[in-house]
Amino acid sequence: PEGADTGSQKDRVVTEEEWLQKWETGNIGFHKEQGHPLLQKHLDVLLNGRSGLRIFFPLCGKAVEMKWLADMGHSVVGVEVSEQALKDFFAEHSLPYCEEPVPEISGAKTLQSTSGNISLYCCSIYDLSSSVVGKFDAVWDRGALVAVNPCDRQRYVSLMITLMEKNSSYLLVTVSYDPNKHKGPPFYVPESEIKSLFGNHCEIKCLEQVDDFSDKHRRWGLDYFLEVLYILKFVA
Ligand code: SAH
Repeated sequence: PEGADTGSQKDRVVTEEEWLQKWETGNIGFHKEQGHPLLQKHLDVLLNGRSGLRIFFPLCGKAVEMKWLADMGHSVVGVEVSEQALKDFFAEHSLPYCEEPVPEISGAKTLQSTSGNISLYCCSIYDLSSSVVGKFDAVWDRGALVAVNPCDRQRYVSLMITLMEKNSSYLLVTVSYDPNKHKGPPFYVPESEIKSLFGNHCEIKCLEQVDDFSDKHRRWGLDYFLEVLYILKFVA
């Protein structure tokens, strides 16, 4: 049964400190320099014909898709604990930015593109709420839910639900592999769990499953690795 399968990961904790260290040492194999092909392919479902959306990138790292969407005229908000990741993002796209403290969150700041349509919060996602960041028309969740510690998953999803506008859409990428062979992150989140986490608040559709197996996964001791894409629709 799936419950027993994921049991091996449920107590694993990656601390904020460890994430910062990954950024410091350049141990960021999760970053995709060319962006994610599944966002490109399914952008239409996410946007659903709408323009000028507010789009949220939880646990954003330096995801290049933030630049894509901003260039299309959307307004992008991200959150990330690593300031280095955010500074790298602006530097790598030659985007001027300014820093501002966030009065509601002690120690937090935003890095905002001077053009105004990319606002990245440097703090833990658990410090955010809709009163600070508002609500969103769309979410791109890749390397986010699957990077959250299993013990925090319910809290993460409950928070995300409070950040969704009516009639918003949420593209979620999860990964599938044998969780007894790799401790994560990324963590294996089965479809049954997606349904129990989000199920009461939205319609969930699996859009596709793609083979993403590479040498990295072979070195982790795995013999298969899939990405699974869902669209969640938050109906009125
Ligand atoms: N979504 C990005 C990054 C994935 S890796 C991408 O697709 O490339 C997960 C990221 O989450 C890391 O950059 C890590 O520093 C950040 N992170 C981990 N815990 C966090 C938290 N509680 N709040 C905000 N960011 C966090």
